[in-house]
Amino acid sequence: MKESRNSNRGHGWRPKKRLGQNFLREKGVVHSIISLARFDPSSSVLEVGPGLGALTLPLSQKVGHVYAVEKDAQLVERLGEELNRKSVANVTLTNQDILRMDFETLPVPPGERIGVIGNLPYNISTPFLERLLDNRKKVGKAVLMFQKEVARRLIASPGSREYGSLTVLIQYHARIFPLLDVPRSAFYPVPKVDSMVIGLDFEKPHEPRVSDEENLKRVVRSAFSHRRKTLLNSFKGSPYSFAPDELRKACEACSIDTGKRAEALTIDDFICLSSRVFLTSQGTG
Ligand code: SAM
Repeated sequence: MKESRNSNRGHGWRPKKRLGQNFLREKGVVHSIISLARFDPSSSVLEVGPGLGALTLPLSQKVGHVYAVEKDAQLVERLGEELNRKSVANVTLTNQDILRMDFETLPVPPGERIGVIGNLPYNISTPFLERLLDNRKKVGKAVLMFQKEVARRLIASPGSREYGSLTVLIQYHARIFPLLDVPRSAFYPVPKVDSMVIGLDFEKPHEPRVSDEENLKRVVRSAFSHRRKTLLNSFKGSPYSFAPDELRKACEACSIDTGKRAEALTIDDFICLSSRVFLTSQGTG
């Protein structure tokens, strides 16, 4: 295998698989990601998992401030030294688990939103997306690299195999756009799968909005809980309680055939359903 600039043979450090450490080594890909992101030059951007700084350093030249959050203490030390050596003053690097970071601690002025960028470790992509959804009022645009299979789920259309509850909930909360295909050969070590960079704009969510987002989440999750079953049967097998008659009437009012499967429903269908059928946790009535 070709020796890469990130290879650390003889330096007492190796990429850690459990932290999803596949580092970008193609400069062309790095520059494409940063230019496609089109962050405002004065903006603050949260970077998830800066690693050896492939994105961090060029990004710091394009935006106002970078808040880089890295879980691996060894990498924080290495990158911290490099930032000092290069006198980079607009990067704040912290040693934290992004899944435990309190978004409230980010210095975002009231009324402003932070950008997000990250070549996400594969094993945290779904939990990190959930955290982004929970904190979406503080986030503007997010530009994230996912393994292709996950990216396809995010951009999927109704009727496709990849369309699921994550698709509906993400597309409800943000405008999603595919930005770049990245081949596995762009990383060191080379992963087993290809990747894709996706943009999510939380300032342009789907319209119309619902009044009870928790109920929308329950309706979507119930509908997809047994995705091979019809809507009615999938709801019956979900962990939430509902009145079957209410569901039948809601489907009729929304012009949805109860014999359909969840994958055939559009986001507007789910919005319509969730304004007419109300789900509760089992046992809470
Ligand atoms: N951004 C670098 C690049 O593109 O070369 C590194 C990307 S690598 C796929 C993922 C990075 O996320 C690694 O540096 C890894 O240590 C870090 N990481 C893994 N889990 C993390 C977590 N829970 N919180 C913060 N960083 C994490």
